[in-house]
Amino acid sequence: MQVRIKKTLFKGKKNDVQDYKDEFASLKADINIKRSKYIGEIVFALNIVLVLIDIVFYKNMRKISYSYVYLYYSHVAAAGIILLWLIVLRYFEVKNKAYNKEAAYHILLNIIIYWCVFVGLNSLNISGQISAYIICVLALAVSVYMDSLECYIIYGCSIVVFITGLALLVHNYQVLSSHIVNSIIVIICGCIASNLNYCSFKNDFINKKMILKSKQELEASNIKLREYEKLRTDFLANISHELRTPLNVIYSAEHMIEINLKEKDPNIEKTEKYLKMIKQNSYRLVRLINNLIDISKIDATVYEIKPINCDIVKIVEDITLSVADYIESKGISLIFDTELEEKIIACDPDKIERIILNLLSNAIKFTEKNGEILVRVYILDSNVCISVKDTGIGISEEMKDLIFDRFIQVDKSISRNREGSGIGLSLVKALVELHKGSVHVNSTIGKGSEFIISLPDVLTENNYKENSFDKLYEQRVEKINIEFSDIYNLKD
Ligand code: ADP
Repeated sequence: MQVRIKKTLFKGKKNDVQDYKDEFASLKADINIKRSKYIGEIVFALNIVLVLIDIVFYKNMRKISYSYVYLYYSHVAAAGIILLWLIVLRYFEVKNKAYNKEAAYHILLNIIIYWCVFVGLNSLNISGQISAYIICVLALAVSVYMDSLECYIIYGCSIVVFITGLALLVHNYQVLSSHIVNSIIVIICGCIASNLNYCSFKNDFINKKMILKSKQELEASNIKLREYEKLRTDFLANISHELRTPLNVIYSAEHMIEINLKEKDPNIEKTEKYLKMIKQNSYRLVRLINNLIDISKIDATVYEIKPINCDIVKIVEDITLSVADYIESKGISLIFDTELEEKIIACDPDKIERIILNLLSNAIKFTEKNGEILVRVYILDSNVCISVKDTGIGISEEMKDLIFDRFIQVDKSISRNREGSGIGLSLVKALVELHKGSVHVNSTIGKGSEFIISLPDVLTENNYKENSFDKLYEQRVEKINIEFSDIYNLKD
């Protein structure tokens, strides 16, 4: 597990530096400016002490060597400039004004490094040491975060000035070359220390970000898991209800038939009514089990469609017309509308029927008496579109995308009267996607819904065979009975 996290961190680094570029730059500037203020305060205090030391101990020495004079004024100047820098910064912060932090700390770093160059050169004159410059370079390298470019510019310019100063001051070639070599080594060490310091800061930042990101992803997937778990529990409760209801009806109807048959003069009408109830509820069970099997096959990616070139207009028209009487018996008018004579595309007629029957069955379930269902076939953007539009209860905006998820029913209390398992539309979506098409819904609460299926206008090598539709025809009545079985007719 640990190894996997490490791998992810490493893999993520390259891109995430870019992702967090602004955040990283602003954090670096914040830390640097904070540290620069401390460094500024320390160097200011140091210069005040040095000025006092100059005044108390080296006053007379200034007459002997100019270097003491330069050092004295350099301490005074450095203390003054750094004090000014601290005051200006404080002013910006108190007034809450925005300022360029990068520029601010660069100014201070340059003041300090050139002051150290100056002190280093003068102390060389007095004591033969260049320690001020060495200490300064190494101290800045470990205390301020500088990327390669920043440290090359700051250290590079300072070493040029320093070496020029050395060349002007030291006339002994051997001494000069040893100082130059030493100062170059110091600069190389400074650059290495700066880079190491900067890289560890950068890696630390990115790792923290990656851990935070993984944590957020983990939390998001936990929430999803919990949602899925809830959906699963709801589904089990729903499926149990869906299985129990028709079974109860079948059991009661069978019981009533038994009682009826035991009577001297059995009522044929009653028996027929109970047999009808048994049949409809058996269809409901078959539909539910068919849907469950298909959904699990789709999940296991073993579900296949068999596309053939056939007339999609005829398939939709036939299936619509074959349920026309049934729909009209519910007091709902049905219109089939198309301007296309014929449209041959590659599709699986059996699955297209299933899709249309599913949408029609929903349209009937959610449309009141005197409503209207309109089925259209048309071409849009070189796709074949099939629209099933109703004047039913409609679907709210936030539920529009969710209804295509498995086991989702908009309102359980509404659906309870109408029955359903919440699988229908997820199956429609899966079947349409197996055809490389898409499905979406337009709907307004209280006004109705329109489900639009868009199928690609493509052909396959397999052509429609004469008797394949006849076979479909024979099975159609049974299919309609199955697909419409959960339109619960209270009178039945
Ligand atoms: P079910 O088998 O429960 O009908 P579906 O997946 O077919 O499940 O539909 C999911 C939900 O989408 C339904 O419970 C219903 O709330 C909503 N729905 C589907 N079609 C329509 C429609 N034509 N009008 C209003 N609501 C609909």
